[in-house]
Amino acid sequence: MAQMLRIAIQKSGRLSEKSLEIIKKCGIKFGSDERVLKEQASNFPLEFLYVRDDDIPAYIRDGVADIGIVGRNEYDEQAIDLQVLRDLGFAKCRLSIAVPQNMQYTGLACLQGMRIATSYPNILGGILKEQGVQASFVQVSGSVEVTPAVGIADAICDLVSTGATLAMNGLKEVQAIYTSTAVMIGRKQIGSSEKEAILKRLMLRIDAVMRAASYKYVIFNLPEEHLDQVSHIVGGMKSPTVTRLMEAGWVSVQTVVAEDTFWDVFEQLKALGAQGILVTPIEKMTE
Ligand code: ATP
Ligand code: ZN
Repeated sequence: MAQMLRIAIQKSGRLSEKSLEIIKKCGIKFGSDERVLKEQASNFPLEFLYVRDDDIPAYIRDGVADIGIVGRNEYDEQAIDLQVLRDLGFAKCRLSIAVPQNMQYTGLACLQGMRIATSYPNILGGILKEQGVQASFVQVSGSVEVTPAVGIADAICDLVSTGATLAMNGLKEVQAIYTSTAVMIGRKQIGSSEKEAILKRLMLRIDAVMRAASYKYVIFNLPEEHLDQVSHIVGGMKSPTVTRLMEAGWVSVQTVVAEDTFWDVFEQLKALGAQGILVTPIEKMTE
């Protein structure tokens, strides 16, 4: 039987939906039925394994899966020797220090000698060590934020997105020490040239999907006399496409614009007299 590449995806949690979405956008068809543990894509040699995110790095190391998607926090904390194939950019979150509302906090040095509750002793330990701070860790795997109130910790270090849970427990976020996004990880050696080839095909598609997500397709009308200036504002993939409008002196310009420069470009185009600016998402984009 032909070989398949096996990808481990979080079964149900914050990473699941976006992980499946990115693979679907690669044109890979599968059921994504949460009740099953394992399934195969119907049009690509890829097999899915749905598991807890904590288990993914070890499954990859042991060959149960070949690649997987996890938060960088989980990957760094476990420190299993794999490689990050791509930073996928979603599931952004931060690991922060939080202390009781009434505690004065001036920096990591304040934590000297304290008991800190965390699920990330390795990441936190590394950062405190760099700063020459010695603290003891209370290792908990959930409900970290209740530990100061029940008297088993003086401060906590946990993933934060809004801070609302912290406030409910009488804590305040005082310092972000680490930021994380979802990453695609894999063994340094996948193990077979057939699987290597499948991985390469998959990566090509993922890159095209990610590149497309960071660009917009922009179409606008422009007085022809300003065409020269426009090429300095919008690059396009090679250069913008220009077509003549029926109305004399006007052209229509089509180009791609990076998402993070979009509003700058938009304002400059408006200043040049551009009209009818249409912006649409790009589904896939290759170089
Ligand atoms: P599992 O049952 O699979 O072990 P879990 O409870 O450990 O799930 P989730 O809460 O689903 O995990 O979080 C998975 C990952 O999502 C985290 O490791 C982190 O990278 C990211 N994440 C955590 N909190 C947030 C957040 N508030 N916003 C965005 N991403 C987050
Ligand atoms: Zn988990």
